[in-house]
Parts: sequence; structure tokens; C-alpha cells
Amino acid sequence: MEPAPILDASETVLVSVRVRPHNSTELRLDPTSAWYTSTFNDRMIKLTKGRDGQRDNREWNFDRILPPETDNAKIYATSARAHVRSAMEGYNAVVFAYGQTASGKTFTLTGSPTNPGIIPLAISDLFAQIRATPDREFLLRASYLELYNETIIDLLSPEAGRELSISEGRKKGEIIINGLTECAVRTEDEVRKLIRLGEERRKVGGTDWNQPSDGTRTPGRDKTTRISTLSIIDLAGSERHTSSKERNAEGKHINQSLLTLKLVISKLADMASKRQVTHVPYRDSKLTRLLQPSLSGDALISVICTISPAYVNLAESISTLSFAQGLK
Ligand code: ADP
Ligand code: MG
Repeated sequence: MEPAPILDASETVLVSVRVRPHNSTELRLDPTSAWYTSTFNDRMIKLTKGRDGQRDNREWNFDRILPPETDNAKIYATSARAHVRSAMEGYNAVVFAYGQTASGKTFTLTGSPTNPGIIPLAISDLFAQIRATPDREFLLRASYLELYNETIIDLLSPEAGRELSISEGRKKGEIIINGLTECAVRTEDEVRKLIRLGEERRKVGGTDWNQPSDGTRTPGRDKTTRISTLSIIDLAGSERHTSSKERNAEGKHINQSLLTLKLVISKLADMASKRQVTHVPYRDSKLTRLLQPSLSGDALISVICTISPAYVNLAESISTLSFAQGLK
């Protein structure tokens, strides 16, 4: 088996920015792009001009810049494949999509029939790797859950809408999601069916996140068993959630949850570079709490931030880039 691709140590937390193409409404308003991205993975993104044509030369640097013409297969290869492969080697890995509603999170993770996203590509890759490694035994389990208003909903439970609680395991940092359905899967098709089932049960609306995860058990040459989790997460829209009264509680949960995620990830990036142990506020949100094992130690983390190319969305896009910058 080919070794897991090793990312640069500075890429323990890998931050990518994907600019989607203009949609038809945006094209009608102003077809010029707010963002200058020279070539695929050039690492630098800058404003083409400021608002109202004002001079504004601000630029940002990230590990990966994925311009509008980039397809999902390329994004998988640059920003997720190493994570999937390292999960197969026994390390926890997590891939997030972050950005304002309609910026392309779901397109990036789920994709479309003609342009499958990171989730289907990861599943194909996992099974292809397993077929190519007949000397090792793999055991895969899939779960799919939604976190909504700090409530965990099991999307694969036979009881639709079942709420779950979290507790700590015996080992330090171990988290148990009580009663979470984990389906043993043997084929790509079985995983796809589970995803479809979960998708049907999910709440509609742009303010949800979900986590299909594949646990891989890998008895190695030395007969030891390695267990790891790969989590792929479609985060809630990052725009400020203040619109209506009913949505306010939901908005507060989302803001708190994304803020805690940023704090936790930036502490990890900090610890990876300085090798210092600091307090990581996992307990400040359910999201970071249930991901704690995948947001610590030698886990690999990829955050793909999606932005619109249009001037009408400039303020939100800049806010997404600030979030992304704050991760490292
Ligand atoms: P989000 O999940 O962030 O709310 P979506 O992924 O649903 O946003 O994207 C909003 C719309 O834009 C969808 O119709 C989607 O198909 C389209 N879209 C997003 N990103 C791209 C892309 N890179 N190429 C083509 N269409 C895209
Ligand atoms: Mg979405």
C-alpha cells in the first residue's frame, strides 16, 4: 500500500479557499469578479478592486487557492485526499466546508451527478485503496448525524429524528455519542444508500451541518488494530444569523459553534507549530465536543472555505477570509 501522503507540518490544519463561478443573478448585476486568483493553487488571493471601484489592494495567503474553474476532483486531490488516506493509516481526519449560504459548501462536499463532491470521491477512494491492499483487513462503519440547535440527531436511526447525548469514555479525550447508529458497510453502494437515507431525513434549510463518518479498523502487518474516524462536515452558513425572531436562538448557537471551532482549530495549529500544550475549549460547543478526538493530537484537519466571486457578497466573503486567516 502506498504510504499516506504526508502534508507539510504547517499543514496539520490545511486551509483552502474556493471561489465559485458567478451564478446568473450575480452575472446580471456585475460580471467582473471581486477576487483575483492567478492560477490554481497559487496561494494568494486579492481584491481586484474595492467596493464602488475604490482602490483596495488587500491580499490574503492560504495553503490552497481554488479558482472558479476548479472542479471537485481537483479539490479532492489537493484538500481532502491526504486526509482520507491518513484515516486509512489509523489517524483521525476531518474535512470541513465553511462559508456563507449559497457559497458552495454542499456543492463542494456532495457535488452533483456530473461533478461528484468530496464525500462520493472519498468513498470511491477508500474502497479503491482497500481493494489495492489485500494483505490488510479493513472494517468500516458509517454514521450520519446532524447537529441542530445544539441537539444531535441520528440520521440513520430506525426511529426518525432520534436525539442523542454525549458522554466521556474511559480513555482521556474519548467521546461517546450514546446510541449512535453505526452501520457496518462493505461496498460503496451500501454507503451511498445510507447517505441517501440520511439526506431524506435531514432538515431542509441552509443552517445545518452533518457528518457522515467512516471508521476504519486496520489490523496491520504486526496484527495490531488501528481505529480511526474520518469526518466530513457541512457547516451552517457563516453569515450573521439575526434575521427573524424564531431564528435567533438558532443563530446564537451557530455563531457560538463556529466561533468555538475557530478557537479550537487555531489552538491546535498553534500547538503544532510551537509544541506547547494550552487549554483547548472543546466544551464550549457540541460541535467541538463531539469532534474532540478528531480535533486533537495527530489528527489532520482540512477547512475548505467557500466564497462567492461577486461584489454583492464582498462583505461576507471578506468575513470568511478573516475566519480562515484566524485558523492558523
Ligand atoms: P451552500 O451549501 O454553501 O449553501 P451550495 O453548494 O448549495 O451552497 O451552492 C449554491 C448554488 O451554487 C447551488 O445551486 C450550486 O449548485 C451552485 N454552485 C456552488 N458552487 C459551484 C461551483 N463551484 N460550480 C458550479 N456551481 C456551483
Ligand atoms: Mg448547503
